[in-house]
Amino acid sequence: MSPTARVTKADYYEVLGVERTASEQELKSAYRKLAMQYHPDRNPDDPKAEEKFKLASEAYQVLSDPDKRAAYDRFGHAGVSNGGMDASGFAGMPDLGDIFGDIFGEMFNMGGTRRSSRAQRGRDLQYELTLTFEEAVFGKQSEIQIRRMENCAACQGSGAEPGHGPSVCQQCAGRGQVRFQQGFFSVARTCPACGGTGSIVNNPCRQCRGDGRQSADHTINVTVPAGIEDHMRIRYQGEGDAGRFGGPSGDLYIVVSVEAHPFFEREGNDLHYVLPVSFPQATLGTELMIPTLEGETKLKIPEGTQSGTEFRLRNKGVPYLNDHGRGDLIVQVVAQVPKKLTKAQKELMRELSETLTVENTPSSRSFFGKMKDIFS
Ligand SMILES: [Zn+2]
Ligand SMILES: [Zn+2]
Repeated sequence: MSPTARVTKADYYEVLGVERTASEQELKSAYRKLAMQYHPDRNPDDPKAEEKFKLASEAYQVLSDPDKRAAYDRFGHAGVSNGGMDASGFAGMPDLGDIFGDIFGEMFNMGGTRRSSRAQRGRDLQYELTLTFEEAVFGKQSEIQIRRMENCAACQGSGAEPGHGPSVCQQCAGRGQVRFQQGFFSVARTCPACGGTGSIVNNPCRQCRGDGRQSADHTINVTVPAGIEDHMRIRYQGEGDAGRFGGPSGDLYIVVSVEAHPFFEREGNDLHYVLPVSFPQATLGTELMIPTLEGETKLKIPEGTQSGTEFRLRNKGVPYLNDHGRGDLIVQVVAQVPKKLTKAQKELMRELSETLTVENTPSSRSFFGKMKDIFS
């Protein structure tokens, strides 16, 4: 402590530029403003700024503490002078970071460097799983082999040769960070010797060359839920690469790739296909066996069915993902116009044509609507 410094010391309230009745919040914002302005990081090699910064910090340190403030109000500097308020005493206080943490943490983002260590989260892995159309619709249990990084069995992830450490880092005494003086402040930084782990590997593990991890094959039981769609992902938390130096494992994503079906077309949970019928079948009506996901079923096509008519078979579609119920199967009937006819068939057509009168005038209505009129 330097007695001469105390003699010339300015009034703490004047230093912060606040009234003697200032509230805690007013003190804090006044100090924050000064600290921002005069912090040594922002004013390198400016002794005057550093001096102002020290003084403001000191004033705030006293006035923000109700007991010290009361003592200061009664006795002036003498009331708080035993608190080790000069620079060296101040910096030696171990909890300085906590006192100013809320202010400097947000100002200079010192919180980040204080906590940093070498622990790393493992990588997320992605695996593509190809499913047939039916497997996606009904779900599937699947065993897949993946290659991922796992903790080295020889060194249990430490990276040190078994029986040879790791030893405690001498530079930081195992704390993973070192404190150093920066102007008025004692700042914590990640220890450069051990990279924040607090330990030093002198003999790297021969199995993993000190990485702590090794590539290994692993079997995962994958449950594909019924109703899954192309490009959907299934997440397996913690099944990705192992983390390094105590970091958490990454995740495994199973990305689903669904093969196309020869005729079923999927639209959400509904299925569609086109069913060709002959012109007489559509005209006179018929019964046909048609395919569904679960075998054939009978479809009645009534007399006078227009080309393009859709038949909806309830609950014959795709199950809802993680839910009850299913979509529908929608069968669109399309009447085929014959391209090749025998002479006898042509004769019959001509005969038919003479008795069917159609007004060949354009209409603004839909093709199917027009067709309906023609055949009704
Ligand atoms: Zn190892
Ligand atoms: Zn260290």
